[in-house]
Amino acid sequence: MEAGDANLHQTDDNGDKSDEEEKEDRATQSLLNKLIRSNVVNNTNQVEVLQRDPNSPLYSVKTFEELRLKPQLLKGVYEMGFNRPSKIQENALPMMLAEPPQNLIAQSQSGTGKTAAFVLAMLSHVDPSLKWPQCLCISPTYELALQTGKVIEQMGKFYPEVKLAYAVRGHKMERGVKIKEQIVIGTPGTVLDWCIKLKLIDPKKIKVFVLDEADVMIATQGHQDQSIRIQRMLPKGCQMLLFSATFEDSVWKFAERVVPDPNIIKLKREEETLDTIKQYYVLCNSKEDKFNALCNIYGAITIAQAMIFCHVTNWLAVEQRAAVIERFRDGKEKVLITTNVCARGIDVEQVSVVINFDLPLDKDGNPDNETYLHRIGRTGRFGKRGLAVNMVDSQRSMEILKTYERHFNKKIGRLDTDDLDEIE
Ligand code: ADP
Repeated sequence: MEAGDANLHQTDDNGDKSDEEEKEDRATQSLLNKLIRSNVVNNTNQVEVLQRDPNSPLYSVKTFEELRLKPQLLKGVYEMGFNRPSKIQENALPMMLAEPPQNLIAQSQSGTGKTAAFVLAMLSHVDPSLKWPQCLCISPTYELALQTGKVIEQMGKFYPEVKLAYAVRGHKMERGVKIKEQIVIGTPGTVLDWCIKLKLIDPKKIKVFVLDEADVMIATQGHQDQSIRIQRMLPKGCQMLLFSATFEDSVWKFAERVVPDPNIIKLKREEETLDTIKQYYVLCNSKEDKFNALCNIYGAITIAQAMIFCHVTNWLAVEQRAAVIERFRDGKEKVLITTNVCARGIDVEQVSVVINFDLPLDKDGNPDNETYLHRIGRTGRFGKRGLAVNMVDSQRSMEILKTYERHFNKKIGRLDTDDLDEIE
């Protein structure tokens, strides 16, 4: 394998991370999940809907036409390749587009269509003839804000009268200059500055407020308070929308402070299984051996895309990494190398080959069943068939492999990397 074939992206997996680093990881994982995903995640679970007014009829839509979107927006939706609403969108969109506006808390795993849903809601509620901010969306990091901004730009492609401003670090603005853009997306600190210190935005004129990635948001020092301060400046009657991929108690408490009288939509994560995965291990005696085995496997995989997990300590900034991951998603890169830490929360559904160059371990160096399953497992009947290869290079790693085999009660066969017919 030539150096140029694979790109190295990783965080330092020294197993001794501070809380701050753990938090940063969540934002990084979330960004990588967005970048790597080219399709909406299918999910066979039932959407749970809790309506604020249990007597009002429950609306759900199966087509975008039923939503009576502005033609420019419907065109944007189709141009993005969306044929029908995703599972979460079926319920969330009618609620968000209802008159009078309804508040919403929605939780579903990454990739289920939350961003697309609230972007469509924001674009629908904007009055392009009014030249001031009407929709405000806050995101936990600069990169995530930019990513969401891209979706707004894409979906609003045929609605050019609607403009977007980024309230993020580095976007220097002078005090008192009024912002004319109808939608503002940014991070909480800068948005607060724009509202209070610089007075660029009049929060009283905001009609739709979106708080995205609430779970990542509260993991960052200060973001929770800043978000609540922003929310308190908004007028009565402003629509409040909050989204999260997970729903721990802390997220829930925060959500209830930010969103009064909410409707609630939840979609449980689909269970992962190893049923559709062929699992193998390769015995290696040395580092060199391991590398050679990897090269052989790489050579044998002609079409598939592979993700390789290993412990390495080398840094690349997220911005740089993002570009390579996008190339990987678009099929221009065949291999993505990543480490344990940054991979724990990454969804690899569309990757058909996963190589554990180093087996997953928890902080204390013990087997970590959940991470093993999440790295190589697939969800339900939508999951494509996959191949997982584990590199075993010591007595200890053999023991760990056996633990995984026993735990999941699935055989992990030995693979001879000099004879790879079996895996093609
Ligand atoms: P989330 O915010 O839940 O992570 P996104 O809105 O980013 O999910 O959607 C995940 C991926 O699925 C994106 O690539 C997006 O363009 C695509 N997508 C979203 N909604 C649909 C839809 N209704 N049909 C097809 N693809 C969709």
